[in-house]
Amino acid sequence: MMNKLIVYVADRQHFYDLENLIEVFVLKSQLEFVEDMTAYHEKMTDGDSGLQLIYETAESVTFVLNHKGTEKKVNIYADKAHFKRNMKRALYELLAQYYEPMSKWGILVGIRPVKIVHELMDKGMTEPEIREILLNDYLIQPEKVNLLLEIATRERPHLFPVEKDKISVYICIPFCPTRCLYCSFPSNSLEKKKRLVPEYLSLLIREIEETFALIHSKNQVIDCIYIGGGTPTSLDHQQLEALLKTITGHTDMTLVKEFTVEAGRPDTIDLVKLTLMKQHGVSRVCINPQTMNDETLVKIGRNHSADDIFEVMQLVRQVGFHSVNMDLIMGLPGETLTHAEKTLTDCLLMKPDNVTVHTLAVKRASRLNENYEQYELTHDQTVEDMMTLADTKLRTSELIPYYMYRQKKMIGHLENVGYALKTYESLYNMRIMEERHTIIALGAGAVSKICYPDENRFERVANFKGVEDYISRFDEVLKRKHFIE
Ligand code: SF4
Repeated sequence: MMNKLIVYVADRQHFYDLENLIEVFVLKSQLEFVEDMTAYHEKMTDGDSGLQLIYETAESVTFVLNHKGTEKKVNIYADKAHFKRNMKRALYELLAQYYEPMSKWGILVGIRPVKIVHELMDKGMTEPEIREILLNDYLIQPEKVNLLLEIATRERPHLFPVEKDKISVYICIPFCPTRCLYCSFPSNSLEKKKRLVPEYLSLLIREIEETFALIHSKNQVIDCIYIGGGTPTSLDHQQLEALLKTITGHTDMTLVKEFTVEAGRPDTIDLVKLTLMKQHGVSRVCINPQTMNDETLVKIGRNHSADDIFEVMQLVRQVGFHSVNMDLIMGLPGETLTHAEKTLTDCLLMKPDNVTVHTLAVKRASRLNENYEQYELTHDQTVEDMMTLADTKLRTSELIPYYMYRQKKMIGHLENVGYALKTYESLYNMRIMEERHTIIALGAGAVSKICYPDENRFERVANFKGVEDYISRFDEVLKRKHFIE
């Protein structure tokens, strides 16, 4: 049996970052966090290695690494502004003496790495200066540095200068036909919760009416709308029409630059729904195959085949939306590079304007995580090869990276990358990632972000996660929306 790394962290400060950074070097299954030094020393007698993180003051920390009878000690002192980065860097360099890093992202473990590049660009730094910081201070590998710089450069004209009177709106329909194997969202399967849809929708409509009125009373303009979930097209024809009518009846649609509906699953889409969407000004739809391999679709619990995707895409083209996005996932259980190749080839045959390529993440609240042993997960290196293949094939079809993000528990510590044809970048996707622009979110589980671009900070205001809570505590939901005032 392999020896474990026993970790004692004397203070929960920065715990999230440190835990994630340690996992860049040591598999979670080989890590054990202990509560006190007594437990630490007891465990160490089994021949395990140990790591202690001891905070002396808010500006100083000591790391002690015990490995096969040796002890290495590092003390970090840094001012508040640079403390976190210096601390992570010191821990990285200490661990790198004994373990091989499994990520190309250096000390970065957060969700939005491009934000750092925007901050450096805001300071007026040149590309070579930023490149040097990313390589030498953040220890990011050159290929990822190139990706960050490429994306930040492409995003900038869409995001800056920040128009403070423009607001995006996110509306959540948290229902899906079935629950996907890897899903950790608070989505509710229609099989179990269909009875809640009418009441949920009538309250959501009230939330839209009141929130839109509040936004307009502050002379703010809604210029970007995103209906996501869940699967918004899980609604039936009447319900979808009622939702779309409410939106278009309560804001000036001539000012809306982008209106997305995440249609998601083909088994929820038909010509009537697509026509309704088109009539109400929807400009962008997402059709998400995830994979074009039927065997995998069954395994991950989706009610459709690859052929269904081709058929729905024909309907989408027939109705004629400005922009069509497709989401794919690399590394689904049992998939090889050949599966990924088929998915990408089929996807490109349908000529989408945007493609978002995700790396599978094994999230805590997913069925995949609960039944981990049952599934054959793809090897980290294979998933990396799949992402490289996707990048090559998409670029060849003129789909170029325009936004990206990372998640916890991604296979191979990789990333999700959104590709788009020139001028087809999704405004909403760039805004949500870079957090300089206010997004008001409505519905169960939705989280609004109020941005203060001058101070480079934002505040979150969350709605209740569960549909039941959203319904039973709706008065509170409405009250919370008064932050807009
Ligand atoms: S479609 Fe999306 S939200 Fe719905 S179950 Fe699948 S992963 Fe979850």
